[in-house]
Amino acid sequence: MRRAIFPGSFDPITNGHVDIIQRALPLFDEIVISIGINSNKNYMFSLEKRKSFIEKTFENEPKITVKTYEGLTVNFCERIKASFILRGLRNPADFEFEKAIAHTNRSLSNIETIFLLTSTGTSFISSSIVREVIQNHGDYSHLVPEFVSNS
Ligand code: ADP
Repeated sequence: MRRAIFPGSFDPITNGHVDIIQRALPLFDEIVISIGINSNKNYMFSLEKRKSFIEKTFENEPKITVKTYEGLTVNFCERIKASFILRGLRNPADFEFEKAIAHTNRSLSNIETIFLLTSTGTSFISSSIVREVIQNHGDYSHLVPEFVSNS
């Protein structure tokens, strides 16, 4: 059973996340989209909303489940018997950040991080840019799955 987690804040899930998840589906038997709970962060969308946006977006995809977790990502992987962490890369800043995290995770466990490069059409999308557009009352429907923009 090749189980991967795709960890993130998903505040909210965007078409950039969806692209990475869909392209990773053929690589794994199961992808657990894992919302990390960080009590020091202020979120725009509640945990319940962020989870339900993801569940509705992938309701017809049997290989995808959604979970929340607190604490170290590698400990969560070990708890749910996931051997892989899936992450997306958009730019050199993502690479530097992700490299340090992946090396740290490898020093703590045997869990491998698998990176997929962003697609050309979604490379500019980030949850923070979506939140900025929402706060300033712009049209963000082309940046997110329909369950987010229709909420
Ligand atoms: P985090 O708070 O961990 O950065 P995010 O929800 O912002 O969580 O992102 C989760 C993952 O999705 C990260 O690996 C991030 O690089 C990736 N990601 C986000 N947007 C895109 C995009 N447009 N293209 C590719 N990967 C993306």
